[in-house]
Amino acid sequence: MHPVKKDVRALTKEQLRQFFESQGEKAFRGNQVYEWLWIKSAHSFDVMTNLSKEVRAMLEAHFVINHIKVDQMQRSSDGTIKNAVRLHDDLVVESVLIPTSKRTTACVSSQVGCSLDCKFCATARLKRMRNLNPDEIYDQVVAIDNESRLYFDRPLSNIVFMGMGEPLMNYNNVLKAVAKITSKEGLRMSPRRITISTSGVPKMIKKLADDQVKFKLAVSLHSAIDEVRTSIMPFNENFPLSDLREALEYWYQKTKSRITYEYVVWKGINDQLKDVKALINFCKFAPSKVNLIEYNPIDDGDFKQADEEAIDMYVRFLEQNGIVVTVRRSRGKDIDAACGQLANKS
Ligand code: SF4
Repeated sequence: MHPVKKDVRALTKEQLRQFFESQGEKAFRGNQVYEWLWIKSAHSFDVMTNLSKEVRAMLEAHFVINHIKVDQMQRSSDGTIKNAVRLHDDLVVESVLIPTSKRTTACVSSQVGCSLDCKFCATARLKRMRNLNPDEIYDQVVAIDNESRLYFDRPLSNIVFMGMGEPLMNYNNVLKAVAKITSKEGLRMSPRRITISTSGVPKMIKKLADDQVKFKLAVSLHSAIDEVRTSIMPFNENFPLSDLREALEYWYQKTKSRITYEYVVWKGINDQLKDVKALINFCKFAPSKVNLIEYNPIDDGDFKQADEEAIDMYVRFLEQNGIVVTVRRSRGKDIDAACGQLANKS
């Protein structure tokens, strides 16, 4: 029986150097392979032409190169690009490129499916199959950076972890991916251009604060009333708003970094004055920004975008209370742009 070959991309540069030494080769070969894998995005050992045929065969005998493949790409009339990304084990996740006049943002996935059960989300229907490993997350960013250069003639400017999965449930791999994205051997991106968007896992928000991360934090809140939030995000039963609020206060004390809240206003669910008041009350303890996001429906179910009057009411009251608010129009409406829709089809 052949031993299972290891993914060469799981090795650090130092481990690659050690591997070559253990094979009686010069350690610097490890640097060369690292460069092929991470700077030149090599997908096979054959292309590593500064290595001899023998060395390439030796690598082939020990390792595989697991890489993602953009299986299907949809382009919206508003410029949004959505990728269905096939992983080495044939599972599929999604990543999206969202261009505006000032920036191009990558929205990336952190898990295949999701263990949380938000009622408005297409990904929730897939259930959690596995965590993405750091290089699968990194590869999504590289693929979108390439698309940004190809179609918009500029590099990627921002990243949000707002695709499939709950990033804080895959904490270590997400942080390793961010480390690579921000490193000088990776994409050299500033952590201030990266946002981790969580549904709100209190313990892990505190851990982020303790780990003194430099990226931004966004919370998908959608309601500041426990009863309402539990009905649309059932895990709120276990992580109630009081726990979330305490964790966010801890985050703010440690980082002094503004908190962004992602918030969809749905007709008949959270479109009343009491909902806005609860939101203001929840987030006024620290400098906050609320993104009111237009809903991209996933089916003909209960979730319908609220009327313009309700959005105007939110904007008015939030601004009166000194909270920064932006209204985000839904992008890619003519493609399957709601998170999880394309992967559900695949
Ligand atoms: S909204 Fe996010 S956390 Fe909730 S089920 Fe969907 S992917 Fe998971």
